[in-house]
Amino acid sequence: MIPKIMQASKVGFPCDRNLWYAVNGYESEIKTRTQRIFDVGTALEPIVVDWLNQDGWVTFYNSGSQRAELELYANIKGGKIGGHPDVFMENSYVNNVLADIKTMNERAFISWKRNGTLKDKPQYADQLHVYAYAAMAAGAPVDKLAVVGVNKNTSELHIDLFDYSEERMNEIIKRAERIFSLDTPPEQGDRMESWACQYCEFAKHCDIYQAKHKQDTDVGNSIMKTNEPDIVNAIELLKEARELSKAGKELENDAKAVLDEQVRKQGVKSVSIGSLILTLTETSSTRFDSTAFKKAHPELIQEFSKTINSVTYNIKESA
Ligand code: SF4
Repeated sequence: MIPKIMQASKVGFPCDRNLWYAVNGYESEIKTRTQRIFDVGTALEPIVVDWLNQDGWVTFYNSGSQRAELELYANIKGGKIGGHPDVFMENSYVNNVLADIKTMNERAFISWKRNGTLKDKPQYADQLHVYAYAAMAAGAPVDKLAVVGVNKNTSELHIDLFDYSEERMNEIIKRAERIFSLDTPPEQGDRMESWACQYCEFAKHCDIYQAKHKQDTDVGNSIMKTNEPDIVNAIELLKEARELSKAGKELENDAKAVLDEQVRKQGVKSVSIGSLILTLTETSSTRFDSTAFKKAHPELIQEFSKTINSVTYNIKESA
């Protein structure tokens, strides 16, 4: 019997059922756009490794993504877990860092940099734990794990270092062994996330998905179900723009809080860092209090109001 294999890049996926299809050899179907996102990430990897070298890291780059030379697998009950780690690296401060390179869009990068891998991208942390577990089983020392992230919009590079956790790895192994042991596809499990089906390469095999998402056009109840690429792209773009704008606002507030504390309250009016000069200008302005005016002169509000038609686009995840 061919041993079941769970790839490190899959172990953090939230749906148990997806993992079951993967380890049981079901044919996957990756959307063209998703595949191209993977391809861009793979193509950028050697460039990112060059940047690491320029920044003083000594790297061993396992080039070739899924066809990379170095494969690390460890046996667990019912099968194997492992895959192809991207990079081993070290510098004068830290040795034996096992790292994975991730290219991200602006929104994902901002959120990951702000919150860290363990909170924002637990699936990356799980992936790195599996590589580390297999590496250590093969006798290679691992002192730290790292995600090397690159913002595809700005080319900013950020490294998030974190520790290997035996407790986390035990949970990963427990889940993998349970999925290996099942003869039929399980339910999604308690780690399921609402976004998972959208990125699932086994949706065509999945009864749960098929029952929820009939791919026909249904204009009953005013909901038009569609796969029309222009509409799909526009909705995804609008969703991303809103998330980006929210993340940007939060970042701006964080930065302003620091500057308030460390610059404005010290009475400093101007600060320079390299080629950037920050100048503080304090102003006061008068705003029209429309709520108070409405209360005081309800009859005037009626007289000076006019009707303007507009459309609001709300986006929410379907149940
Ligand atoms: S379609 Fe959704 S429920 Fe079905 S296997 Fe994929 S992620 Fe899981």
